[in-house]
Amino acid sequence: MRSVVLITCSLMAPVMQSSSQSLVAVHRINTGSNVFILEGREKLVLVDAGYPGNGRKICRQIEKLAPKKLSLIFVTHAHFDHYGCADYIRKATGAPVGIHELDAPTMAAGKTPIPLVKSWGRAGKLLFPLGMKVWKTEPTSADMTFIEGDRLDAYGISAQVIHTPGHTDGAASLLVDDSVLFAGDLVVSVLHIGKQCYFATSWEAIDSSISKLKQLAPHRTFPGHGAAEISREELMEFK
Ligand SMILES: [Zn+2]
Ligand SMILES: [Zn+2]
Repeated sequence: MRSVVLITCSLMAPVMQSSSQSLVAVHRINTGSNVFILEGREKLVLVDAGYPGNGRKICRQIEKLAPKKLSLIFVTHAHFDHYGCADYIRKATGAPVGIHELDAPTMAAGKTPIPLVKSWGRAGKLLFPLGMKVWKTEPTSADMTFIEGDRLDAYGISAQVIHTPGHTDGAASLLVDDSVLFAGDLVVSVLHIGKQCYFATSWEAIDSSISKLKQLAPHRTFPGHGAAEISREELMEFK
């Protein structure tokens, strides 16, 4: 059974709430791509920073959770629709920007590589140069880089960085409280629920990363786009 949760940003209704884990609530902000505020007991962690131009919108939502402060901006991968407002939010909140070490140089250059495309990803690639002009992307240096297994406990959330390459070389997921996964664009839930099948640097690596996620078997997986979350049962059926 697929659970679909629609969130009204202005109401800031949490996608999920927890009483026993480090994660108190997850708040989704839709910028075209998903931005998640992970609300810990004392601090906030941001997963992804949205399309360029959404900085004020995201910061307003962060401010609603005061006095809790943002401790980290975790970017799942170096595509402009995920790090677009990272620099704006960093300047507004003082929180550092972190990304997997393999994607840091791309983000610092303000680039968005999509070497391999399939299906409607081909159209996306054709429109891409236009998109980069519309959504002006700031080169964004990382304050810190992560590798497989790094933990984010110091930022107020019991979470582990999982290197899940394929969509980009340095794509990384975040496993929180051993049960909730933020997978960026490794998975899709727009048009259909499944593995990334439109944009990649390696289709083989995507398959390996999906196998890795199945081993972790999170209860819930949140994708980089779309309101639908992915259940453990659905993830296990990914081909
Ligand atoms: Zn992407
Ligand atoms: Zn994306």
